Amino acid sequence: MIDASSSLDYLPPPARIGILGAGQLGKMLVQAAQTMGYQTIVLDPDANAPAAQVSQEALEFAYDDPKGIEQLALKAARVTTEFENVPSHTLQVLSEKIPVHPSAYAVSVAQDRIIEKNMILSCKLQTAPFHVIKHPSDVEKTPHDLLPGILKTARLGYDGKGQVSVNNLLQLQLAYTTMNAKVTSSTAVDDISCVLEKKLPLHAEYSVIVARNELNEMVTLPIQCNQHVNGILHLTTVFERAMDPELEQELTQAAKTIATNLSYIGVLCVEFFVLQNTSPEPKRPSWVVNEIAPRPHNSGHHSLDSCDLSQFDLQLRTLCGLPLISPRQHSPCAMLNLLGDLWLNSGVQHALEPAWEHILALPGTHLHLYGKTEPRRGRKMGHLNITGRQPKEVLSTLSKCLEILKLPPLNNASLAL
Ligand code: ADP
Ligand code: MG
Repeated sequence: MIDASSSLDYLPPPARIGILGAGQLGKMLVQAAQTMGYQTIVLDPDANAPAAQVSQEALEFAYDDPKGIEQLALKAARVTTEFENVPSHTLQVLSEKIPVHPSAYAVSVAQDRIIEKNMILSCKLQTAPFHVIKHPSDVEKTPHDLLPGILKTARLGYDGKGQVSVNNLLQLQLAYTTMNAKVTSSTAVDDISCVLEKKLPLHAEYSVIVARNELNEMVTLPIQCNQHVNGILHLTTVFERAMDPELEQELTQAAKTIATNLSYIGVLCVEFFVLQNTSPEPKRPSWVVNEIAPRPHNSGHHSLDSCDLSQFDLQLRTLCGLPLISPRQHSPCAMLNLLGDLWLNSGVQHALEPAWEHILALPGTHLHLYGKTEPRRGRKMGHLNITGRQPKEVLSTLSKCLEILKLPPLNNASLAL
């Protein structure tokens, strides 16, 4: 079998970059690539997806359609993915013809929570305590100290979807049976694989974005502090010296360890839970790895306006064999996700565009809308980056934006400040 992905020499513009998926992450990569003179071709079953609106070429095929795969292999010089649930077989087939990064292997690890957690443990890093449930009889074997917990499907969950909180064994049984019925009725699988994770008392959530090339050179974006609402990322803040420097160093190193362990080439995001200190010792909070994403990540969107290299610039550089240099953050930043709810909460029957003209009257606001035509509750329609001279200024502008958008005011405690 030919492995075309073994060498990543410098690929000069105007070469054509292929992207699997045409969502917002693909769109922002296309924009970074086009800025540097590259051509792009995206593949997505939805012809109106955000990246398809801006890419020079778009292929409208299912991710596993051999015709689409063949055309992409013919037209693109190198391929990457913006969507982690692309079948790893597609990445494998493509990699026999042209370089594909990240690898089918790395993506397949991220696609399955069970494999992902075992990979994290093999790096000598901690995860939340968990129990694998692949069959109804596994429910009874659940260690009682994992309850209350969160039942998560092993595959295809995102933005808190495919997750149910359970307090006791009875609720767990019911949740697993319901999930099983939903999935097995629409697919040919016997029983759905899940993990039950212990619900941990979180002090804060962080993520680290690392870019790695085949020479094992790695650079990271500044650490990101994330707040979720209903399992969906709501707000990311990136303020220098906002956290214990030793802890920051530990989390950054952990992200690099995972990237190295996966022989990863590209941009990888690692999510962390920092736990509440329930006992006087140890003094520094303990932490676990939550999950990884084999692509740029929502929590790294601030880098478009806060750093001299964005996470999409880094993705392009790793794919095109360009030098990896450390991004420098020039402004403290907050990134607020703009969900479809904002369009639907106006009180009138039809969807209404939020008052961007008031938001954009505030210095330091940077609006990014993805070009999705239909606002739905929980759907990511865009994000708002807010920069300023100091964190205080950013937070003050953010408070005004929340008020304009009729969102609940800031909760400083959960910003881990
Ligand atoms: P997704 O793939 O949807 O991002 P996650 O596993 O990251 O799923 O869960 C989404 C959010 O739910 C997390 O960012 C966190 O806020 C909360 N959460 C998930 N697992 C746990 C846990 N074991 N303990 C406490 N909170 C959790
Ligand atoms: Mg997550």
